[in-house]
Amino acid sequence: MKPATLLATTLLLAACGGADATTGAGATAPATPVAPHLHVDVYAAAESNVNSYVVSDDAGAILIDATRNSADARGALALARATGHDPSLVFVTHGHPDHFLGLGALRAEVPGLRIVVATEAIKQDVIGFATWMDGQGWLDGEPGMKPRSAAAPDGFDYAGAIEVLDGDHLVLPGGEALEVRADYPAAEAAHTSTLYAPQLGALFASDLAYHDVHLWLGVGVTRDAAAAWQQVAAQLAAAYPATTTIYPGHGAPTDPGVFAAVRGYIDDLLAVADAAADDQAAIDAMVAKYPGYANRDFLLTMSVANQRQLARP
Ligand SMILES: [Zn+2]
Repeated sequence: MKPATLLATTLLLAACGGADATTGAGATAPATPVAPHLHVDVYAAAESNVNSYVVSDDAGAILIDATRNSADARGALALARATGHDPSLVFVTHGHPDHFLGLGALRAEVPGLRIVVATEAIKQDVIGFATWMDGQGWLDGEPGMKPRSAAAPDGFDYAGAIEVLDGDHLVLPGGEALEVRADYPAAEAAHTSTLYAPQLGALFASDLAYHDVHLWLGVGVTRDAAAAWQQVAAQLAAAYPATTTIYPGHGAPTDPGVFAAVRGYIDDLLAVADAAADDQAAIDAMVAKYPGYANRDFLLTMSVANQRQLARP
């Protein structure tokens, strides 16, 4: 082979992802690495089947979502520290408590930790939900996450602690960047954001994707929001390559087939809610259809109650 032919062959192999480009006789340069620096670790929390993700590059790490309680948050933090770095920030994808109630524990362990959301609307969702939960007495188990006030001087300063991202990229300490999207309609949550790492082919889909976990169609998810969620799921399935790894808000990492599963689940739950004689009959019907799905006691029960309520004239 002439040198020019060898070079062309090497380049062709490299372009096709051929790992043997460096071992062929006469090859002189390694193939360009596809994903040189970015790494994902998954923390599957004990409560709510919710995930926190550690994304790290050569120089540091960040967290995506903060879990439902302090103990889970400390578990996620330990996973982050195993990369050799304290996380520089935690990105909260949306304003539901299973994604932000661990913030206080993270801040206590990492005092300089930035708390970042994609939009002011998501920040207000967090504050609104925390305030509502406090009024219900549901933060007595996490008193450090009560909104700080005269009555709760040791509470959490949500307004002061949460910063809204400037721009549409989240940059890691080593310079790697994730694409942020937050223009979704009200669906599972009033406002939601996702992160995409083109270097990895990884989409952090937040609660637009649940994988083998019952979906939240409870209070706040109207029939219009459920329909919007189905449309968004179809758009996401079409927008990203079939090889994309989907990191869902709840459940194990999977592939874009999860979006068809989400659409089908919503169809099934709404049909069951409309047809069942009572809540228990609806729950039983969904368990029969989805025997392997996790979190019947809270997510399924609350979703059935809400959607049956909405079904009534
Ligand atoms: Zn969630």
